[in-house]
Amino acid sequence: MYASFLGLEVHTQLLTRTKVFCGCRAAFGDEPNTNVCPVCMGYPGVLPTLNIEAIRMGYVVARALNCTLATSTLFERKNYFYPDLPKNYQISQFRSPLGTDGWVDIELRKRKKRVRIREVHLEEDAGKMIHAGDITLLDFNRTGTPLLEIVTQPDMEVGEEAEVFLQQLRRMVRYLGVCDGNMEEGSLRCDANVSVNLEGKGLGSKVEVKNLNSFKFVRKAIAYEIERQSEILERGGSVTQETRLWNENRDVTEGMRTKESSSDYRYFPEPDLPPFVPDEAFLARIDASLVELPQARRTRFLEQFHLSEEQADFLCDERATADYFEETVRLGADPQSAALWLAADVKKHLNRTGSSLSGGPLSPGRLAELLGLMAAKRIHGKIAKAVLEKVFEENKDPLAIIQEKGWEQITDPTALGAHVDAVMKANPSIVASIRAGDSRLITFLIGEIMKKTSGRAEPELVQGIVRKKLSLSVIQILSLGGAIVGRVSDQGDVVAGDPSEILRLVEAEGRFGRIVFEEGEVGRILSEEITPQDWARLLAGLDEHVRSGRASGIVITHGTDTLAYTASLVFWLFPQPTVPIVLAASLSTPGREGSDAIPSLRTAIQTAAEASPGVYVVFGGKVFSPLNLKFERMTADGFRNWNLTTPCHTTGPLFEDLSLGADREKLRTRLETAINSTLIIRVYPGMRGDHLVELMDRGVKNFVLELYDTGTANLRDSPYSLRRVFLAAREKGVHVFCTSQQEGIVDFSSYASSHELWREGAIPMGSLTTESAWTKLVVCSAFSETEEEMLARMEQGNADARL
Ligand SMILES: [Zn+2]
Repeated sequence: MYASFLGLEVHTQLLTRTKVFCGCRAAFGDEPNTNVCPVCMGYPGVLPTLNIEAIRMGYVVARALNCTLATSTLFERKNYFYPDLPKNYQISQFRSPLGTDGWVDIELRKRKKRVRIREVHLEEDAGKMIHAGDITLLDFNRTGTPLLEIVTQPDMEVGEEAEVFLQQLRRMVRYLGVCDGNMEEGSLRCDANVSVNLEGKGLGSKVEVKNLNSFKFVRKAIAYEIERQSEILERGGSVTQETRLWNENRDVTEGMRTKESSSDYRYFPEPDLPPFVPDEAFLARIDASLVELPQARRTRFLEQFHLSEEQADFLCDERATADYFEETVRLGADPQSAALWLAADVKKHLNRTGSSLSGGPLSPGRLAELLGLMAAKRIHGKIAKAVLEKVFEENKDPLAIIQEKGWEQITDPTALGAHVDAVMKANPSIVASIRAGDSRLITFLIGEIMKKTSGRAEPELVQGIVRKKLSLSVIQILSLGGAIVGRVSDQGDVVAGDPSEILRLVEAEGRFGRIVFEEGEVGRILSEEITPQDWARLLAGLDEHVRSGRASGIVITHGTDTLAYTASLVFWLFPQPTVPIVLAASLSTPGREGSDAIPSLRTAIQTAAEASPGVYVVFGGKVFSPLNLKFERMTADGFRNWNLTTPCHTTGPLFEDLSLGADREKLRTRLETAINSTLIIRVYPGMRGDHLVELMDRGVKNFVLELYDTGTANLRDSPYSLRRVFLAAREKGVHVFCTSQQEGIVDFSSYASSHELWREGAIPMGSLTTESAWTKLVVCSAFSETEEEMLARMEQGNADARL
């Protein structure tokens, strides 16, 4: 069993106007060798002078990294020869760096960790070598530009952590305005120190992997190096202390040279630069330069504005976006809708027009105005999107556009009622058919009214008025079978019941409006026989009903055994429906002595008619949350919600806008593909890990692994070990999501082997049950465009589902 230790040395190019010890321009992309002078070229007899702006930036970063700031800092010469170093020495800091002993907090897969910063020091950069065929060209423009080196302690263990650390650091230096963080241009690059040893033996030999210039390379190079060193140790060998390079074409590290120790550099103080001693005025400037850092801002956004983690991440990634958001909210916009619009529609227009938030046509004031008009119901969402487009095209205020175009919403019920009357009068046969029971035609009527008002009518208001004028409150019942709508046949089997007979028993017709059974489905499917096709049909039908506004509420009948799956599936796909969606089940069929079917159906219909929009489950006459549902036949209620104290909650929807109904075939294929590549595995003593590896080869891409309790499983080296499963999973790009067999929250923080599960890349699903986690996985993998997106959505909000 091996432990790995990772430290990073991050080089950040400071955004000063001139170089650190001379007055040459410090800029990327100029004509080669145009920004040079005798000082940075190291001519004899020249004198360096310290660029005070560079040292200010250095101190600001050290401060932001919680370092102890040097009261006196010294520059030293680091002596070595290399073609890109014309002076044969580099001015750097060795004995007294400007900052020491800092820290940064990071979090990966729910594990929080403090990464200690050993030091922050300022040095000059070297030139650039350009290899072209047989010759090497030298560009000294970069020679002498200020470089801030941030060195961590070996506190990280896996490549993903280093990636998180680096992303966080990049965001920080960009917030502070001291580095542009452009990794492609090399303004942020890093070396990784990787050391692997037997568990408990401390650090092993240190291998340095040089010049990693993308997040992906950092992650991959470290993972490769940990693997390589572990294998050497496994074979009984010893790891050579050396410097290696990442070969991005072959995905391997390659030996470069054995590592020099610091004594090889013969450091000595730079005789031409006095020690820098910061005075109080300087330190006051450092304090003044500090801004609220991204992590702190993210935490504040979560608390102050009640955003989802995903929204807070998006807003705080760039300081300009976060500033813009706060200004919009200060000007009166609702934080949630501002965040929603910035991440979706506004971002789309920015990408399309290639413009940025600051200085573009959409000022915070204009966005606040637009959202305000929507909140005041003067325009509805569809019109708001059109207005936004016009703001970008014509650079005008939203209100002016609305007035100019006559787009203001018609919200006066009398005015709308007149339109409804006119449309109904013009379509007598349609109205007659609706009254006769064909509720699907309501969609047509609503469409006509929208047309007649040029889309200015508020859709939900129109729906309400139409239903009222037709005296229709429609409860749509979709059936996925279940005893609740079944009957017992002469042979004693449960078969489909008679809808009209059931409705007669429910006696709700009229009291809650019209009740419409979806034809031909009642009781046909046994809950334990549900296939992806059945789900696809149900979900597409549901989507269509929700979008059309035909029904004022929807009831889905279902069997008990698999209700936990369908209920959470519906929840993940319809987190914010416009009408109540109620899944209902019962233990026995209607009409039987003491049956709970009719009371449950009655409660379900009442909930569909009267509750606020959302997803609900009804069983035994009681209302439950669709998430974390547990069926226990022996308990009085039959069902309960595991780990949930509020009926239903997550931090925002998985997907902002998912149109399911458009193409049923596509929906079926997506669900089928996602379900077919997913397996739920319950860990038990004697379970062979190698069987799971075989399943990976047969196309399983995702596992939901149900662990004993908060993260325990067999990791000893044997065929039963999960370690082999994780290694194979990483190799084959398979993901393992973990839930608990017991009533525990899986975050890998408490048990011994949970740390190892975490290190091997398992993803904890927080407080979700296996069923809810699995349906989340199905939805995320069916509807994410990329694997990264799928993983990000899977981790989103798991801890908060508990509340
Ligand atoms: Zn110069």
